[in-house]
Formats: sequence, structure tokens, C-alpha cells
Amino acid sequence: MAIRMIRKDEDEILRKISKKVEVIDDRIIMLLNDMRDTMYEAEGVGLAAPQVGVLRRIAVVDVGEGLIELINPVIVFESGEEIDEEGCLSLPGKNGAVCRPKKVIVRAQNRHGETFEITGTDLLARAFCHEIDHLNGILFTDKVIPDYKLDKK
Ligand code: ZN
Repeated sequence: MAIRMIRKDEDEILRKISKKVEVIDDRIIMLLNDMRDTMYEAEGVGLAAPQVGVLRRIAVVDVGEGLIELINPVIVFESGEEIDEEGCLSLPGKNGAVCRPKKVIVRAQNRHGETFEITGTDLLARAFCHEIDHLNGILFTDKVIPDYKLDKK
């Protein structure tokens, strides 16, 4: 188990485009393991590789339904929209309302190199979109709806 340092705020690596993973070797497996441990340690629901300083198209997500590892994820379907509050481990203390698809289907590879598709709705759809944005150098603050008042339940 190894916790990696989470890059924060104005760190320029957060603005770079991550590269596709061509070969899932021991280093990629170690990265996946460390990202999982780092996400749980930080009590986040998702973490993308650039957040730990690695420009590779890898993300981990767990919205309370179990760990999902995504290598080279792409959104192949999206529908609906939903505005809800969002935050980010790289932007501590910040949050805001972001509009995301209500439902997405993501195609990715798992750590064994097998391609799979996974459907996410609501929070899981939001987490997928947020993490995939990270792989393209996009932060949620780019998409915040200014002065939007969320109904607090
Ligand atoms: Zn984030």
C-alpha cells in the first residue's frame, strides 16, 4: 500500500492531456493500487492519474458501490442532465453546481486488459464524467454554474 501525493490547485499537471495506456505492465498495476489507496485515504469518490502526477488515462471511482478501475475510459452514450454539487480532491474547500448527464455508459479496460462497458446514473455518472474530464485537463470549476443555488435536502 502506498499513498501518493495529490496534486492541488494551480499545479500545471492538472491542465495537461493524459496519454492512452498501451500496455498494462507492473507499473500500471502499481499505479492502480496506489490510486485506490490514495482515494480511500482521502475519502474521495474518484481519482484520476494526473491528480497523482501521472499523465495516463486511468481513473478509479467508488461512490459506495464498490471499486471501479477504468483504463482508457471513454463515454460512449449519455442521456439527460442533472445539476448537483461537485467537489474535487485537487481543489480542497471548493465546490459548486455542475450540470452532468443523468446517465452515461463508459467503455474502458480493466487491469487484465479486458474491455468492458459500465452504466452509471446520478452520482456514478457524475463521477465518471468528472474523472474523464481530468484526463483531458478539465477541472469541475471550469463548468460551475455561477451563483446557482442547490436545494439542500
Ligand atoms: Zn477531481
